[in-house]
Amino acid sequence: MEFNEELKDIKNYSAGKPIELVVREYGIKPENVIKLASNENPYGSSPKVVEAVREICDKMYLYPDDSMYELKEGLSKRFDVKSDEIIIGAGSDQILEFATRAKANKTNSVLMAKTTFAMYEIYAKAVGTNILKTPSDIHKLDEFLKIYKSRKDISIIFLCMPNNPMGETLKKSEVYEFLKKIDKNTLVIIDGAYQEFAAYKDERMKIEPKDVIENFSNVLYLGTFSKAYGLGGMRVGYGIAKGEIIQNLMKLRPPFNITTLSLKAATQSLKDNDFVEKCLKNNFIQMKRYEEFADHLKIEYIPSYTNFITFLLKNSKNSSEISNFLLKKGIIIRDLKSYGLNAVRITIGKKDENDKFFTNFSQIYNAG
Ligand SMILES: *Cc1c(COP(=O)(O)O)cnc(C)c1O
Repeated sequence: MEFNEELKDIKNYSAGKPIELVVREYGIKPENVIKLASNENPYGSSPKVVEAVREICDKMYLYPDDSMYELKEGLSKRFDVKSDEIIIGAGSDQILEFATRAKANKTNSVLMAKTTFAMYEIYAKAVGTNILKTPSDIHKLDEFLKIYKSRKDISIIFLCMPNNPMGETLKKSEVYEFLKKIDKNTLVIIDGAYQEFAAYKDERMKIEPKDVIENFSNVLYLGTFSKAYGLGGMRVGYGIAKGEIIQNLMKLRPPFNITTLSLKAATQSLKDNDFVEKCLKNNFIQMKRYEEFADHLKIEYIPSYTNFITFLLKNSKNSSEISNFLLKKGIIIRDLKSYGLNAVRITIGKKDENDKFFTNFSQIYNAG
């Protein structure tokens, strides 16, 4: 059978390995597997969210409210934007897909950092658009600008703030200076999947959706409930932009793209700030331990504004060997070989999970 030409060049997104796989392949009990691979919230979801979802389990036979009124109200209050400046997706991933389909095509190009969220490239390839990347792994806005200025055909610029899988972010002031130089016909996607973490660590990094869209009508801000809010399994994300952008993305949204239970979970999670605050606080307490651990072993890393840390192993040890060794011990981390880097990305876990990581990582790192 023949398929569209564009698909030939697409590599499947390699998601973090699930706990079930380690249980099956290595015979480790599920309760002994530690997953530090997909940047999920190690503290789970807010108990209030779990309770609220339980209460509506008997409503599964009904289609969800396709206007997503409750959740949009919640987000509208949280961010002080209008309901028609919000779109909800099955993860912010789905909004990335809508945006790419809405702007990019065979006659134009998209621009991104060399090492950034893999889905930007996958969606871009699916529409057959030309993909441009900056020379540096991390975001350097002067490199973005140089490429942008050299061509007339850039439809979308992806800014992953903070950047997955590298962990770096940029100051709001720097991002704004950059945005001033971009044509209003170019869509700039600010992927804020880890903005809660960045804002918690350093206020100067905080990019507020309302402020950014009011200043720049060509920005689409993306947020997700999968990371700080601990709802990765529910698949809910949101996009915030001026009405014209949202109206066009809405044309690509399939009906009922979010489940009834997911809508409830996301809406309820916005009401439990204490839970999120506690998770953010613990994240950076534990992050410090990873930094000290890396310093001790003289491993290079980029200061992270997220819930993960990336160890750049350089010429020391092979990232795949380390990842496989840890896997056999029931510890799942992310090997960044598929990004062309000899590096590993580790989601910051709970204290005892991190202890176990340190012990086992030292063992393989210091061996031979
Ligand atoms: C996790 C993540 C997303 C989206 O996650 P969803 O679960 O689809 O909402 C988007 N961008 C980045 C950079 C991420 O790490």
